[in-house]
Amino acid sequence: MAISVLVINCGSSSIKYALISERREDRIYGLAENLGAADARIKGITVGGEALELSIPYADHAKALETLLERLANYNPQAIGHRVVHGGNITQAERLTQQTIDRIRDAIPLAPLHNPANLIGIEATMSLFPQLPQVAVFDTAFHQTMPEHAYRYAIPQFLYTEHQVRRYGFHGTSHAYVTERASELAGQKNQGGWLSAHLGNGSSTCAVWNGQSIDTSMGLTPLEGVVMGTRSGDVDPSLHLFLANNLGWDIQKIDNMLNKESGLLGLSGLSNDMRTLVEASEKGHEDATLAIEVFCYRLAKSLSALSCGLPRLDGLVFTGGIGENSAYVREKTLAYLPHFGLQFSKENNDTLARGTEGRIDAGTGPQIWVIPTDEEGRIAKETRQVLAQIA
Ligand code: AMP
Repeated sequence: MAISVLVINCGSSSIKYALISERREDRIYGLAENLGAADARIKGITVGGEALELSIPYADHAKALETLLERLANYNPQAIGHRVVHGGNITQAERLTQQTIDRIRDAIPLAPLHNPANLIGIEATMSLFPQLPQVAVFDTAFHQTMPEHAYRYAIPQFLYTEHQVRRYGFHGTSHAYVTERASELAGQKNQGGWLSAHLGNGSSTCAVWNGQSIDTSMGLTPLEGVVMGTRSGDVDPSLHLFLANNLGWDIQKIDNMLNKESGLLGLSGLSNDMRTLVEASEKGHEDATLAIEVFCYRLAKSLSALSCGLPRLDGLVFTGGIGENSAYVREKTLAYLPHFGLQFSKENNDTLARGTEGRIDAGTGPQIWVIPTDEEGRIAKETRQVLAQIA
């Protein structure tokens, strides 16, 4: 029987958790949010699908984890799997030792918002549950198979050799899961060439050949690549100089603008939420219409570019909140990709039920799949694999 794994995903003011046993239906999951504030609370789903809401005023990460772990102790988790955003050049999930923790700390300059929060979660669960084996699963690790010509920037060598400036890529657990699942459904598990589009608040694309990432749209940080909810994706790097020289902006202000005020939000002036934009566009909001168009065009452009790394294209997978739920975005994106022979079935695309796996191509050309992502399930799986290897 598969051991049950508690998956922890610690952000700066929230903690997502999921207790994963053998069957997906048996999952317990939820979120501790607003940590440090008066309205800090835990919201989740218990066994049997009942809603849980618990007020934990001013709880910090450690207190929230203690409360969570007390409640979950009855379910007897046998291991803890932590999502860690940046693992530098670590190539696979690792059992947490002091050495691994030091490497996560060393990668803080590469992920200053994420890795410190991940470390808080790790330190809290290690002191609360010293007897449980704990594993770190890295967003970056899946992309460590990229060839050097895909991960190097065309900038002076020493920035790579002495300062680790290179493309890393993120959303690795999601791209790994959906491409493995789609190729399995297509009857060729981890074989052939797949493109994947993870479209959520953060979005990225990935090219996978025989189960290995060979290129991806995100780079040194999760800002590079396609248009996202509030992130710009690719811009001309000289934009920084332009804004500094002409508007007197400092580097923090520019970084903030590119990460938090751009993307769908910046283009539409309305929202970072694709649902809101589609509704507004239907009512004639021109900037919302433009934001969706830029999103879909730039996504198609990124998928086309990544296809250069694939000897053959067998299929394309959509996932993430937008990829799984928006038939409109899928249709608009595919309309920009006629030259790959991608033929989609409008009926299958429009009638695919939310949260379900489904094939939306017309039966000729590369397959097109919609696969709900399962990052927690993948983290639990990799945690089990690490523990099995060292057992
Ligand atoms: P995620 O970060 O994966 O949770 O995805 C969040 C994004 O999914 C938000 O932009 C939502 O607007 C989007 N989303 C969820 N449902 C829909 C839908 N039915 N149509 C369009 N976008 C959706």
